Amino acid sequence: MNYFPLFADLNNRPVLVVGGGAVAARKVSLLLKANAEVRIVAQKLNAELTALLQQQRIIWLGKTFHADQVRSVFFVIAATDDEQLNHRVFVVAESQQKLVNVVDDQDHCSFIFPSIIDRSPIQVAISSGGAAPVLARLLREKLEALLPQHLGAMAEISGKWRHKVKSKLKTITERRRFWESLFNGRFAQLLKNRQIEQAKQELELQLKADYQGGSVALVGAGPGDAGLLTLKGLQEIQQADIVLYDALVSEEILGLVRRDAELVFVGKRAQGQQVAQEDTNSLLVQYAQQGKRVVRLKGGDPFVFGRGGEELEVLAENQIPFSVVPGITAAIGATAYAGIPLTHRDYAQSAVFVTGHRKADASDIEWQTLARSNQTLVIYMGTLKAKDIADRLQQYGRAAETPIAVISQGTQDTQKTQIGTLAQLAEIAENAPTPALIVVGEVVALHHKLAWFGEDKLAQKPPHFTLDSLRVA
Ligand code: SAH
Repeated sequence: MNYFPLFADLNNRPVLVVGGGAVAARKVSLLLKANAEVRIVAQKLNAELTALLQQQRIIWLGKTFHADQVRSVFFVIAATDDEQLNHRVFVVAESQQKLVNVVDDQDHCSFIFPSIIDRSPIQVAISSGGAAPVLARLLREKLEALLPQHLGAMAEISGKWRHKVKSKLKTITERRRFWESLFNGRFAQLLKNRQIEQAKQELELQLKADYQGGSVALVGAGPGDAGLLTLKGLQEIQQADIVLYDALVSEEILGLVRRDAELVFVGKRAQGQQVAQEDTNSLLVQYAQQGKRVVRLKGGDPFVFGRGGEELEVLAENQIPFSVVPGITAAIGATAYAGIPLTHRDYAQSAVFVTGHRKADASDIEWQTLARSNQTLVIYMGTLKAKDIADRLQQYGRAAETPIAVISQGTQDTQKTQIGTLAQLAEIAENAPTPALIVVGEVVALHHKLAWFGEDKLAQKPPHFTLDSLRVA
């Protein structure tokens, strides 16, 4: 850490500014915002500073700088166009152990000013320690856009209510939940609409209400790469009291869960422990009834082959409030990272997602529909049934040379895409690392052209497809 960040209370504290031009005036106006007592030494004052002097908002000590002017101030800023004078101010201040800043001269600064995003009382200060001021400025612009204007009002009103809330809600958990639900709910919405009075009423109302009941958020974690988690999903896992997660949820995403939250594994793994669906359902109900904010975190999207619907039915039966945050499903994520567009005007007009793992036998499956050409077929949980699937598709008319891909651990560092023909599917799928997705269709041939995500290509010897032969007839 090359500079130590801190927020100083300048209220009625004297600070010295040496210089009376535009640069000095800019610093003075900032200091006045913090209610500092501004003392100035300058040959002459520009129009802005003259006006401030007339309003008695600043004190003009005189034209020449003396060492004793430094003695009683909190810190010193030098902003003259006289380099020698600036350096003298620096040396004098240093000798008296006063903080000093020579504007735009980092070598003569014992402290520097950060870029500021001001939503008082919320403030964000950014600095690159002088290394990349433009980068710091760009960051500031981004954050300016990101942080809503009503943040300040929100923090201010909350500050006034802190004591009342503390005396009503005894535990830290209760208070945290109260504030979080306030900052995410109608209170925030009203402030955003500048309906300040209504917002205060809402706060009062919420405090009177009983905050006993928990809730469940069913959140899709996406296929692995933590960058594919939605903003809303991130908010949910950072506000959770407890997170019930599956085997498919990546370590990287579990790392984003609020630190104090309890993590409970309820997945199904090939070997080792297995949690029955009924047990998961009743855990969800139990935790919510204890008043907890529960997140049920699932790989991909919770409604795509994820039994999310079944879990919600149980919650609905028990009158537990819930919400759903969709995630990027494996078929979308893994194919994107493998450079295989699910549809393409020249090769596929539709995409079908099916599961290879079925409750009953295969007789109810419409192989005719699945075997259609110029359609992309994505098969979840299909590697164990790959031989059967390949046989059936060919039996119902899909050509043996149709391109196929088996994508393992899609979107993760370990992603592996294996390309072949439908005739080779069983062999490729058999040895593929899991979880793996099977993609059957003409679009797979585009992989060679469009693969962009770093994978160890040397291990693979893919067959070569002529794209032209695969186009829509
Ligand atoms: N709800 C999940 C799917 C759960 S079913 C989703 O929307 O993605 C489990 C199957 O999903 C696995 O057998 C595999 O076929 C597929 N799958 C999940 N994550 C995957 C990944 N990162 N790469 C490849 N396939 C994946």
